[in-house]
Amino acid sequence: MLTDSFQRTIKYLRVSITDRCNLRCSYCRPEKCGNTSSNFEHIQHNEIMTYEELLRLASIFARLGVEKIRVTGGEPLVRKNVPEFVGDLLSIKGISDVSLTTNGVLLQDYAEALKAKGLKRINISLDSLVPDKFSKITGRNEFSRVWKGIQKVIELGLDPVKINVVAMRGINDDEFFDFATLTLELPVHVRFIEFMPMAFTTGDSARNRILSSEIIEKIESQWVLEPIPKAPSSGPAECFKIKNAPGTIGFISPISRHFCGECNRMRITAAGSLKPCLLSHDEIDIKAALRSGADDDYLENLIYSAVAIKWKRHEIENGMSPDGGGGGIMFRIGG
Ligand code: SAM
Repeated sequence: MLTDSFQRTIKYLRVSITDRCNLRCSYCRPEKCGNTSSNFEHIQHNEIMTYEELLRLASIFARLGVEKIRVTGGEPLVRKNVPEFVGDLLSIKGISDVSLTTNGVLLQDYAEALKAKGLKRINISLDSLVPDKFSKITGRNEFSRVWKGIQKVIELGLDPVKINVVAMRGINDDEFFDFATLTLELPVHVRFIEFMPMAFTTGDSARNRILSSEIIEKIESQWVLEPIPKAPSSGPAECFKIKNAPGTIGFISPISRHFCGECNRMRITAAGSLKPCLLSHDEIDIKAALRSGADDDYLENLIYSAVAIKWKRHEIENGMSPDGGGGGIMFRIGG
């Protein structure tokens, strides 16, 4: 069993399979930083973890008690053979649940194959329901493909279908009612997420942050929100339902109500580092050990070392500057 210094047991692994993305969200992987092209170098292909390497690590994590895995990126669906990888993860003894976080652009193309390989649930990131605004935020005119992807996974019966919305003042704060209305019309689970200070968070985007309490207040001016009791290991969202709605509304509040005390996660980055916390700079390079022929005992010890350095809680308010000195590069770590 993997237990950290604060008695938290690790049951959940997030695996980033690529740093590449087909969107250019202004706050995550912007096309430009200021007036200059952001010109992010992609991680070289041979530096990205192979599926075989990830499956070997996932098997070791499973032996140590991990039960759930989320596949993420970058945009995971830009990598080949994701459905097969999902199926292979699900065939590991002890892994009972594999999910995927995607921007949805390629979802229509892969939804059926993903379902056939055993994917049951999915998170789709969508910060606006207005096509023009979507294009402005993401730098790409892809709203209709994302929307068709969402319809497709609902049609196929994936459950839950979660829609992740990063709340940003002056950008999508006029759409909170529309996202809430969506839960009355469709069996979708909207999750508003507080904006975190990551590597490319500019002063502007940090100032644009909206705390969950403000969104709750706004939605409650229109509807009664019935709280949904939290199931064990149901994730960090506080969830509500509008009466008779097929969907739910949740709030993930890493800033105003951090959930580090219940953190049960470890991450593997696209370049093969173990990352104990999204919002700390600590990483342990496990790819180097893997590629130099380390046996499972050695890899297991590296995993224990990474778990041992998990922070008690993130330190956003103590020195992680919201003006850029914050967490790492989201699209490389995997959100
Ligand atoms: N491409 C996939 C997607 O769009 O869902 C997976 C990777 S993306 C980095 C995962 C999530 O991180 C997205 O929902 C994105 O909006 C969110 N994200 C990126 N930067 C963020 C930040 N600074 N604060 C909060 N969420 C952020």
